[in-house]
Amino acid sequence: MATRLEFGGIAVEVVQKDIKNVHLSVHPPHGRVTISAPRRMSLDTIRVFAVSRLGWIRQQQAKLRGQDREPPRVLLDRESHYVWGKRYLLKLVEADAPPSIELTPRMLVMHVRPGTDAAKRRVLLEDWYREQVKAAVPPLVTKWEPVLGVAVRRFFVQRMKTKWGSCSPAREAIRLNTELARKAPDCLEYIVVHEMAHLLVRRHDAQFGALLDQCLPHWRHIREDLNAGPLSHTNWP
Ligand SMILES: [Zn+2]
Repeated sequence: MATRLEFGGIAVEVVQKDIKNVHLSVHPPHGRVTISAPRRMSLDTIRVFAVSRLGWIRQQQAKLRGQDREPPRVLLDRESHYVWGKRYLLKLVEADAPPSIELTPRMLVMHVRPGTDAAKRRVLLEDWYREQVKAAVPPLVTKWEPVLGVAVRRFFVQRMKTKWGSCSPAREAIRLNTELARKAPDCLEYIVVHEMAHLLVRRHDAQFGALLDQCLPHWRHIREDLNAGPLSHTNWP
């Protein structure tokens, strides 16, 4: 259960769970603050802890605001976009036909009806990225199910602001971020394996690390790559 604390104009979401240490995080993109704390710790103690870290919280939030300064993509001709880690130049082609996107060796060609605005172009591109991830996941699941000895009943691909993936062990389901279609293919594979590994081990403990070491010995490098991007998460495991 989450509790909300507020002080110094900052809202903090507190979740108490079976952990030993209190953990404070500031999440991109907007600087949302969360605290995970042991169940036995009182809210007063948590508040004192949070207030003592106020300077750090503000500093992290300022850093994130700095990252926001990158100009928003307006989906115009010659803008660059990444697909599976490779850069493509966007080419807009207006024609009176159903919208579509095609990838050539250098270009991401977007066919739209005349007068299609930036918001619609964005939705078209977003849907296309989601389709790329949707198509890439099943072979990875098929590859890793026998290795890990787990079964994935369902998977979902959606936009997530602070996570690359998530897992619901009870439903044997995993969720992947659409943005993974912009990253190198091994990033998607790492997140698929990571979320599938959670079907066996819930926490990011030594056992979990050992499991990832066995499957993808270079997973830490991939994680660095993921954390270096705009969706970097201070706590992404
Ligand atoms: Zn995880």
